[in-house]
Amino acid sequence: MPDLLRRDFVVMTALAAAFGLNARLVVPSALAQGAAGAPSKSFHKYKIGSVEVTALYDGMWAKPHDPAFIKNASVEETKVALAKAALPTDYVSIPLTVVVLTVNGKHVMVDAGSGAQWQSSAQGVLDSMKAAGLDPARISTILISHFHPDHIFGLMEKGTNKPVFPDAEIVVSADEYKWWTEPGRVEKLPEARKGLGQRINTVFPTWKNFTLVEGEKEVAPGVRLVKAPGHTPGHSAFHVSSGGQQLMISSDTAYVPALLAPHPEWQGAYDQDGPLAVATRKALLDRVIAEKMKVCGAHFPFPGTGVFAKDGAGYAFIPDTI
Ligand SMILES: [Zn+2]
Repeated sequence: MPDLLRRDFVVMTALAAAFGLNARLVVPSALAQGAAGAPSKSFHKYKIGSVEVTALYDGMWAKPHDPAFIKNASVEETKVALAKAALPTDYVSIPLTVVVLTVNGKHVMVDAGSGAQWQSSAQGVLDSMKAAGLDPARISTILISHFHPDHIFGLMEKGTNKPVFPDAEIVVSADEYKWWTEPGRVEKLPEARKGLGQRINTVFPTWKNFTLVEGEKEVAPGVRLVKAPGHTPGHSAFHVSSGGQQLMISSDTAYVPALLAPHPEWQGAYDQDGPLAVATRKALLDRVIAEKMKVCGAHFPFPGTGVFAKDGAGYAFIPDTI
């Protein structure tokens, strides 16, 4: 094992023991996630109490390095963090996973994925859904974390903008919806976001199936919206509690944990309000550690779940393996 990884091996082994996991199983598999490409199976099911969670693979973006990617870290520093997580260092691996919660027989999807309209390497979740035995027509509710393309383009058909889930109730924080659809918003957006803003404003106000949530309300039985602003103004996480078990669906709060667990202070170009995103990240990670929650994230290694622990000034992430 390279020296660079030795300390992390020790940390992960200790963490695995603390969570009652078999380190010999966990560690080599976690290291093997350095291998790029699609997982061998495009879905994975697990339980949080009586809630069945189905993780659906959308795709992977092998993002070329860009000095502007992290505002307060160099490309060299990001490469060091990637190497420590046993990931390839010649690009940033940004996988995308969507989860469906089956609660009391109803299917509640969290975000809609990219709809094959984000990166050419990401094909959306419909095939993964089919493989998992889930019928898109039976999705009754879609909780939306925020209005970035990889989370909402899966709601809209390519070209026509027709709803992919016309019968589902779409639930989103009122802060997020109102910010993006405020009069004059598109003109005020940076050039790179104008197309997204235009699409949102052309499509969403014509749909009648949006429910806007003020505050941290229960949005499905045992599922509560958690405000997690910074990445976008109304960015939301979702907390699942059932049978004494808890899952924090952290959305993009910890983004790519190989980078942001050890460096929670790093501000991504994708974080609209960098300092607020950092404060939200630290508060959420401190909470999941204190309450021993399982955590999933849209850009965590597939199946998109794991646990966090404090590690010096930052955090350590142990991904779940399948
Ligand atoms: Zn995202």
